[in-house]
Amino acid sequence: LSVSQYLRQHIRTVPDWPAPGVQFRDITPLLQDPRVFRVLIDAFVHRYMAPELRPDVVAGLDARGFIVGAVVAYELNVGFVPIRKKGKLPFTTVEETYELEYGSATVELHTDAVRPGQRVLLIDDLIATGGTMMAGKRLLEKQGAVVTEGAAIVDLPELGGSERLRAAGLNLFTLVDFE
Ligand code: IMP
Repeated sequence: LSVSQYLRQHIRTVPDWPAPGVQFRDITPLLQDPRVFRVLIDAFVHRYMAPELRPDVVAGLDARGFIVGAVVAYELNVGFVPIRKKGKLPFTTVEETYELEYGSATVELHTDAVRPGQRVLLIDDLIATGGTMMAGKRLLEKQGAVVTEGAAIVDLPELGGSERLRAAGLNLFTLVDFE
């Protein structure tokens, strides 16, 4: 069993959530079992320990990107910065707004979270349309950081997000695809 196949077995699909017709990929079972959680984290840590891929800092996307990103940062012995939904960060921020199927969303980053030239690994749980990760990339680049890679547990390639992110010049690493 490959790591990808093993992890896939521990992702739950919830039909019609949060809306009819949506197949929600629920990663909470991956976190719940300590053996699976370790395989998940180690898959990222192993990749980003390599000197050429090791970031200066890990940025996590609100909210499941915090769970994975913070642990990976800790294991790499680098800092962690949160990219949050608007209105949650207390200090001065920069923000990016992006379009959703219905309406829009805004994410924020503290202005002192990263320094110009810092190499940042951007982490979330899942890439659907890619809008969230693209907004995170823009925020980090606005602050002069270099996003060396985007990482997620799950990619939904049919939604075209990973393709769009790659076309925008982002290197991507994902562990499990769901068609
Ligand atoms: P995107 O911006 O369309 O790529 O959507 C990705 C964001 O929405 C991530 O922050 C995910 O946590 C969340 N998301 C969208 N669909 C799912 C899903 O099926 N499972 C878990 N999270 C999802």
